Amino acid sequence: EEERLINKDLDSLRSLPCVTLDGHHLPLWVNTGLLADVKRAQQRGAEGVGLYRSEVAFMGSSRFPSESEQVLMYREQLQAFHPLPVTMRTLDIGGDKPLSYFPIKESNPYLGWRGIRITLDHPEIFLVQVRAMIKASAGLNNLHILLPMISGVHELDDAQHLIHRAWGELINEGVDVQMPKIGVMIEVPSAVYQAKELARMADFLSVGSNDLTQYLLAVDRNNARVAALYDYLHPAVLMALKEVVCAAHAEGKPVSICGEMAGDPVAAVLLLAMGFDSLSMNSTHLPKVKWLLRKMTLEHAQELLEEVSAMDNPQLIHSTLNLALGNLGLSKVLNP
Ligand code: PEP
Ligand code: MG
Repeated sequence: EEERLINKDLDSLRSLPCVTLDGHHLPLWVNTGLLADVKRAQQRGAEGVGLYRSEVAFMGSSRFPSESEQVLMYREQLQAFHPLPVTMRTLDIGGDKPLSYFPIKESNPYLGWRGIRITLDHPEIFLVQVRAMIKASAGLNNLHILLPMISGVHELDDAQHLIHRAWGELINEGVDVQMPKIGVMIEVPSAVYQAKELARMADFLSVGSNDLTQYLLAVDRNNARVAALYDYLHPAVLMALKEVVCAAHAEGKPVSICGEMAGDPVAAVLLLAMGFDSLSMNSTHLPKVKWLLRKMTLEHAQELLEEVSAMDNPQLIHSTLNLALGNLGLSKVLNP
């Protein structure tokens, strides 16, 4: 209810861009899954979709959707935001996202068969999905494809090969469509260390901070008992994020972030300072983040980042940021 009231108050920001007081534009994108998310995102003034979780529709179905069914689903998303970019993630099942009609039994599912690992082992599933995405983008050409759970360049190489194959097939079938941009999710620690190589091969990077935090801190993101240890403002997570931004920019590639962290106004200040090219979040959080960043300067955000980068204690980082933003009179949108 509190959120609803704040957001109502922030409705006037809808058509305004996310620009800091010193003129730095940071596009705010949304995470979507269902068609219902699209309307809400548009009402909130999103500048694109940074993460379409394609598995949501698969999880709501009783069997794998056919290629033509998938084309319809993807076309709805692509059309709704056209000409803005729509970043569609390929099927990210396994871990905490089961499919009833594709059961997986493992003793350690988070370290098991997840995301790209499954679809590379089942290229027939991957090819149908990628064909459907590319086909759906004909005439719109605003599709970006995002690959989840990449842990090394070999997986990106294999996935790129299959995407090129799907695109080539469609061209041969007479579909007039551009090759989409291909991005890599950075959500496994090994991908942080290979971010430069991955950025060189891909068109863009997008940090999945939910999983990256989970894997860096070895804390199950859904286990209440260790929830206090799950902290995306942990110094190690912040250090990893800075490295990923540097790696992407060293290769001249844009880098986004699409985990929950991007929708936390306090964290968003640090992400702005780190140089992320866009933030993608649940549309509920978008007005708060926009409101706060429009009241900040990039320079001040950079000073805050420098200050907290010298700290080794996550609690101290939280309190320093809350105090600094509170002193600026910006506490209205800060999370408790
Ligand atoms: C993430 O891991 O940060 C992410 C955006 O993906 P998901 O939450 O769907 O795993
Ligand atoms: Mg993830």
